[in-house]
Amino acid sequence: LTEIITAIQSYSQNLFQTTLSYKLNVMIMKKTIGLTLSDFENADVYDKIQRAQDEIGYRPFQLYSSILSIIGSTITLISTAFILIVWKWWIFVLLLIVPIISTIYSTKIGKRQFKIEWRRAPRYRKAWYYSFLMSRDINYKEIKLYGLGNYLLEKYNKIFERYLKVDKKVTKYRTIITFIFNFLINIMGDGITLMLLYSAFNGELPVGNLFSYIRAVSMTESNFESIMNTLFSMYQDNLYIKQLFEFLDLPEGESKKLTDYQLDLSVKLKSIDKIEFRNVSFRYPGSTDYALRYISFTIRKGDVVAIVGKNGSGKTTLVKLLTRLYDIYDGDILINDIDIRKYNIDDVRSNLGVVFQDFVKYEMKVRHNIGFGNINNLNSNREIINGARKAGIDSMISDLPNGINTQLGVWFDNGKQLSGGQWQKVAIARAFFRNASAYILDEPSSALDPAAEKEIFEQFFKSTKGKIGIFTSHRFSTVKYASNILVFEGGYIIEEGSHENLINFSNYYKKLYEIQASPFYNIIEKE
Ligand code: ADP
Repeated sequence: LTEIITAIQSYSQNLFQTTLSYKLNVMIMKKTIGLTLSDFENADVYDKIQRAQDEIGYRPFQLYSSILSIIGSTITLISTAFILIVWKWWIFVLLLIVPIISTIYSTKIGKRQFKIEWRRAPRYRKAWYYSFLMSRDINYKEIKLYGLGNYLLEKYNKIFERYLKVDKKVTKYRTIITFIFNFLINIMGDGITLMLLYSAFNGELPVGNLFSYIRAVSMTESNFESIMNTLFSMYQDNLYIKQLFEFLDLPEGESKKLTDYQLDLSVKLKSIDKIEFRNVSFRYPGSTDYALRYISFTIRKGDVVAIVGKNGSGKTTLVKLLTRLYDIYDGDILINDIDIRKYNIDDVRSNLGVVFQDFVKYEMKVRHNIGFGNINNLNSNREIINGARKAGIDSMISDLPNGINTQLGVWFDNGKQLSGGQWQKVAIARAFFRNASAYILDEPSSALDPAAEKEIFEQFFKSTKGKIGIFTSHRFSTVKYASNILVFEGGYIIEEGSHENLINFSNYYKKLYEIQASPFYNIIEKE
């Protein structure tokens, strides 16, 4: 019977452990999806994620096992304690003293250990980052070329060597304390046993009773010790599990709260026909400098607007506000004359097809890489090929070994690696695949050759006909076909107009356009 029960127990515990850790990980991931971009730009939040994930594999299950174990030990303890209390109650009390003191000490050590671990999260993340730099193909070329491998390994080692020293100290202290208390417990047990033997020798105790008392003493001792140890480990598990709850309790981010506050359920968004910025100024959370200052402009259906400016002038920030990655700013952003924050955030986003400068290269099939633009249409081959055509990669895809079912990247089996420009076109196809009413390309030309760039722009103008098109660029020479050009500098719009207007009547745009259009600049850029 015991064998059968043990087998069932082990089966259900294994299953429970796997399910528990899987479900908790899902909870963490769900929470992560709900976080805002500002959360992801905050090191504290990363530390919290690290702490929550670190111990998730075993702590919660251990807590559950501890509860079972305490119930078991308590039942046994009650029956053995009963025998002792009826006989000589003070023996029972004597047996409790050492384990109680030892638990108080262990708890103190446990708290110390926890604090040490808690403080380590940021450095653990650094160690993780060094190992990430050394173990991913995307970093390989630079790490190899600059000979950074050993340097990074050294940095990684330093973090753990330092920890080893501290761990050694704590473990040593803990071992000594445990040894002393175990020694005392043994002495106590042996003393009581000797006393029992002496009573039996004197004839005060029948031999049969002697054995049951000796057994009761040793079982009380071991069960009480086990209860105390389990309580200690529960206490420690609890400290770690608190980290998990701390992470799960993270507020959804300031912007989300504001969004909920301003949301107006009666306002629906079918298509974006007009975008207006009115005196918008914005600072990144925690930053004192304004990335955008007093920005005002209007874009209407049918316009293709170019936002041009040097690196760091605020172009991407504007796209981030328009895509509602940040919701807190001064001034107003209006869509179809209504405050953007009144709309359901998903409605706004589903109406936008955006390619960010740092777009994602999904190590998945072409189907996913394009289909993620509109997840509901993931299985429509015709639509995916149509999206590919708009980005000029339909023939490239049909040349791939499995067409749209070809795995991209090199992280998984049979992957086909693309060039930087090809990846960028795939990302553009993803945006075109979305049935949006406004399309935004953030620095689309950065990885494209001039021919591909021309092709993409032609396609962009064609695909955004009758819709809104916005693209940002640091190259003044590529924006001349836009219906309106906004020239950014230091977060301000310093000039605005069509190419002809700006060339004739502006200073900054004209100067930079002429420099970038000059053969000399082209040579520099090519080199
Ligand atoms: P551009 O797209 O024109 O190259 P950005 O809009 O990315 O420029 O950046 C505008 C300014 O905002 C820069 O000074 C940059 O340092 C700052 N910035 C960009 N992203 C962040 C961020 N996440 N946190 C704080 N400052 C940022």
